[in-house]
Amino acid sequence: MDNDGILQMEKSEKAFQEAVKWLPGGVNSPVRAFLAVGGNPIYIRQGSGPHIESLDGHSYIDYLLSWGPLLFGHAHPRIKAAVTEALEKGTSFGLPTIAETVMAQKVNQLMPAVEVVRMVNSGTEATMSALRLARAFTKRNIIVKFEGCYHGHSDALLVKAGSGVATLGLPDSPGVPEGIAHYTATVPYNQVEALQELFAQMGEQIAAVIVEPVAGNMGCILPQSGYLEELRRLTQKYGTLLIFDEVMTGFRVAAGGGQERFGIRPDLVTLGKVIGGGLPVGAYGGRRDIMEWVAPNGPVYQAGTLSGNPLAMAAGIAALTMIEEEAPNGLYSKMEQYGQQIVSVFLQACQAKGIPAYGHAIGGMFGLFFNEGAVVDYQSAAQSDKKMFAQFFHALLKRGVLLPPSQLESCFLSAVHGQEELSRTCEAVDSAIRSF
Ligand SMILES: *Cc1c(COP(=O)(O)O)cnc(C)c1O
Repeated sequence: MDNDGILQMEKSEKAFQEAVKWLPGGVNSPVRAFLAVGGNPIYIRQGSGPHIESLDGHSYIDYLLSWGPLLFGHAHPRIKAAVTEALEKGTSFGLPTIAETVMAQKVNQLMPAVEVVRMVNSGTEATMSALRLARAFTKRNIIVKFEGCYHGHSDALLVKAGSGVATLGLPDSPGVPEGIAHYTATVPYNQVEALQELFAQMGEQIAAVIVEPVAGNMGCILPQSGYLEELRRLTQKYGTLLIFDEVMTGFRVAAGGGQERFGIRPDLVTLGKVIGGGLPVGAYGGRRDIMEWVAPNGPVYQAGTLSGNPLAMAAGIAALTMIEEEAPNGLYSKMEQYGQQIVSVFLQACQAKGIPAYGHAIGGMFGLFFNEGAVVDYQSAAQSDKKMFAQFFHALLKRGVLLPPSQLESCFLSAVHGQEELSRTCEAVDSAIRSF
């Protein structure tokens, strides 16, 4: 690794030049294009434990971790073994396997609120299906989401806030009919009054509120004390379903996700990322009386050719089993300590340079912002210095550390990040900020 020189990325550059001819923007998911930090995306050859290696042969300590799923790092031996064993028996059957029931039991063990669960193939599918179910169950149409929270790319959820306390939404993307977006109301995260006002106005029409219990898609933002409790109280009062979107936080901020961490029981839960052990999986579940409405028991249709796929179940079960084993031994507090240490080195280095900075860590997530004040919602997150982050991102890359290529994303830790990686990361963060 050359700390001063420019990293050689010829192979990645060539690969990207070829890819843009064949894939929209050269990628299969927009954030991979590095638009927020500039430069070409890094092409990956392989990963091992906490390390990821580029096509050009550079190795990085990985805090992107495939955007969250890799709680046990890359190519974990037990996940590999489980997938390999399943692979030998066939990749998909379209008929039930026992693994699906085992998965449901394990999810229920870790998250008692998930009494019954339906497996799907992505987080987007999970949230989309949960909303349909919530609307059918409550016989109401309006859903509420928070500005800056991301719940996948289904039409109803691609909506951001306009001005005012609560706006009935306008679509965030062309192709989303206003008629659909019209049923989505948005309020700023962490603002109790806005929430109370919205419920006072239209509480009886709201089918569901969907929330990330720790917001992870505008950087990593913690719910303020009492906020989720008030949300639970209001939804209960108005007969509105509370959906915890734990696609990111599930099995990541605690073994039982945000609902365990904050001691709140949601009506429905959406899952993804960690639950698949690195394979494509999503899930939604919750109260039995609500889940009874899902076909074939009930009238709410939702299906999937590859749902509950045996390879994906094998990987997910292996991951959840390791969580069961390691959580009682301090897995989550260790990750949180590591995250806090990285954050505190970042804050100290910035302070020494007079650079405004903010950050915090929770479980296996942490956030670093170049921001004057506290980051509590989308508005404050969006004020962070983007140029400074881009510079920081590339300075860390040069030093062998990979962060998510945007400040408005969470950084992730894994169970296999050790003391050695931690000290190297802290040195890299300190040296990167000093170089500014
Ligand atoms: C990633 C994410 C999604 C979308 O999941 P996909 O598997 O990318 O479709 C939904 N909600 C939250 C909170 C997420 O972090």
